[in-house]
This record gives sequence, C-alpha cells and structure tokens, in this order.
Amino acid sequence: MNSNEKTIEKFDEHVIHSYGRYPLAMKKGSGRRCIDENGTEYIDFGSGIGTNSLGYCDEKWADAVCAQVRTLQHNSNYYYTEIQAEFAEKLCETAGYSAVFFGNSGAEANECAIKIARKYSFDKYGKGRHTIITLVNSFHGRTIATLSATGQDVFHNYFFPFVEGFVNVKANDIEDLKAKLEDETVCAVMLEYIQGEGGVNCLDKKFVDAVYELCQPKDILVIADEVQTGVGRTGKFLAGDHYGRKADITTLAKGIAGGIPMGACLVNEKCRDVLVPGTHGSTFGGNPIACAGGLAVLDRVTGEGFLDEVSSKAAYIKERLEKCPEVASVSGLGLMIGIELKTKNAGDIAKKALGKGLLVLTAKTKVRLLPPLTISYDELDAGLDILTEILEEA
Ligand SMILES: *Cc1c(COP(=O)(O)O)cnc(C)c1O
Repeated sequence: MNSNEKTIEKFDEHVIHSYGRYPLAMKKGSGRRCIDENGTEYIDFGSGIGTNSLGYCDEKWADAVCAQVRTLQHNSNYYYTEIQAEFAEKLCETAGYSAVFFGNSGAEANECAIKIARKYSFDKYGKGRHTIITLVNSFHGRTIATLSATGQDVFHNYFFPFVEGFVNVKANDIEDLKAKLEDETVCAVMLEYIQGEGGVNCLDKKFVDAVYELCQPKDILVIADEVQTGVGRTGKFLAGDHYGRKADITTLAKGIAGGIPMGACLVNEKCRDVLVPGTHGSTFGGNPIACAGGLAVLDRVTGEGFLDEVSSKAAYIKERLEKCPEVASVSGLGLMIGIELKTKNAGDIAKKALGKGLLVLTAKTKVRLLPPLTISYDELDAGLDILTEILEEA
C-alpha cells in the first residue's frame, strides 16, 4: 500500500462519505503547485475551488497569519478586535459598501443576506413580504435555507421540508422575471453574475439591467452572491463591476482570506442597520486569523496592476484554449473559466489531467478552471500544455 492509499483507508473509515473524491491525498503546497503523499507534483488550476487566491503558503500571507496566531487567535464577538476593524474598513472601502457581517463560509454569508432582506422588508412593510427570487441553475450553498434558495431541483430532495419563500426565474428571461415580480410578497432578487457551479454561465447585461431597473422602484433588494466571483477572481474586485452595478447586498467567501474559512455579507447604507443586537451572530465570525489572511489578500489584490494582470492572463488562457479543436466554447470572466467540450466528457478529462500532474475542476458538463490569481505564465503554459494534450488525444 502506498502513502496515498494508507491515508485514504484511514480517512474512509472515519470520515462520512459525503464527497466524491479523487484517490489522492494532498500533503503540501508551494506557490501554484501541490504535492501528494507519494511525492507526485501537480500544477493547480483549481486553487481549492477558488479559495487559495494567492496560491499555496504565500510568504507574506503566511507571515501575517502566523503573526496573528501568536498574538490573538480568537476571542469572541462580545469584544472588539483591531484586526477585524481594519479588515472591515479596507473591505468596505475596496468593495464600495457601508458595512459588513462576517461569517465563516459562503452559505453563511448567504444566510445572512437572506435574513437581512427579509428583516429589511419586515421592518418597513410588515409581515408577508418575504419571497426571494433566485435563478434556475443557481447555487447558493448547502444549509437548508441556501439549498432552498438554490434553483436546481437535484438539490431539493431528502431533506424535506425545505424553507418556504423562494421562487425561481430562468436566467436571462426578462419576461419570466417581470411575471414573477408581480407577486407582492417579493422582497429580494438574489443572483450570481456568473453561475459557477451551474456551469460558468455569465448573465446577459440586459437581464442584469432589467433586474436592477425593475427592483429599484419597488424597493425590492438585489443580492449578489459573489462567493465565487468576488475578490478579484474575474479581473475586477467584484463581478458586478463588469456590469456597472452594485447590489444592495453582496456576499463573499471562497477566495476572501486566501484559504482560511471566512464569509462576508456586505451591505449598503440602506441595509446597514437592519440587524440589531440579538438578531444574528456567529461564534467564529470575523475570527482574527481569518481577518489577517483577508488583509494579506486585499493588500495584494488591490496592488497596482494586479487585477489587470488577472485579465491579461485570462485572455491568454482563452486564446490558447480556443485554438484547441476539441473546445466548443470558453465561458466566464477573468480567471473563472468554463470550457465546453465537443465530444469528450469533462469528468474524464479532470481524471486524466490528475494522472498527468494537473488539477482542474468541472461544473456541469464543462471543465472549470479557477487558477490562483498569482499564477505565472510559465505555470499557465505548463498546465495548458497538459490540458490541450489530453483534449487532443484521439
Ligand atoms: C461555493 C459557493 C457557495 C457556498 O459556499 P460554502 O463556503 O461552501 O458554503 C455559495 N454560493 C456560490 C456562488 C458558491 O460558489
């Protein structure tokens, strides 16, 4: 039995089998590469599903996190910490929001957004105006409420009863949107500008414009789930910046703290006083270590020219992929890329890539790439050589 297999045996005996996993055990990482327990090295085009935005164990990030671990690893939200204040200030300034609530995951950030939207409406209009429109093929998380919000029937099984008050509209279908907005109980529309798990599909600008233009006059809030698209992933700080729109509430997680669990729910002026003491909370929310990681990510991402580099790398990847005859189309924005294949199966490609030392993700029928934002052209070339070679195999 090799080292990978030993770990897998122990793991499978005691960890609930709630994931389909590849048969390898990751041991360590450095830069944009990681190494499994057998010593095999992989170029990482997945960055832990977009979490390791600065790659593995980035020096400045690791220094900041370790310094915080040795200073104050946690207290509680009964007290204030300077590091949370500093991170909140910088995050709000960078994202253009008034205030933030910190949790520990994307699902929690979305839970917070749902609670704020419902309470905003309750405070202003009373009971009954609670419906949240979400999009078909969306993904908002795994808790019962965020599963209920998720507009995919495959997720609505086993765990009945789901949370009431979610209605789905077809993405990019303005007529469907208009019809569903007639319902007087609607308090918010929640969307991903680019549906990530749903297959890396960008919403049409026209549809996004319609959402904002139809919601504003009715005081219906717009919630942008930027858990996957946020913090520089798409070449702008928020994907909403590509659309020239700012949601009332934006949620972030995945890449926000460079691989440390954190979720954030950002709100505008209108929503900043909705939650009052006792209405929401999280034991670990705004944890100092996560905030230190988050500050290190923000410092880098807001650095001169960083986001333009993300866009240049993205254009380079797209150009190389589009030359590959097996590629039907390339979707997404920045370093959030979906590859539609002509004949091959995305899952098979991901498995084959592993065998050749490359980590990629899938989303529905597409191969999905979420490389670290810091990836170099040499690393991109090395990974793309492997990927295109597999795609061109007979
Ligand atoms: C990953 C993801 C979530 C869920 O985040 P967790 O941290 O797994 O709870 C929610 N929304 C979107 C758009 C995501 O990509």
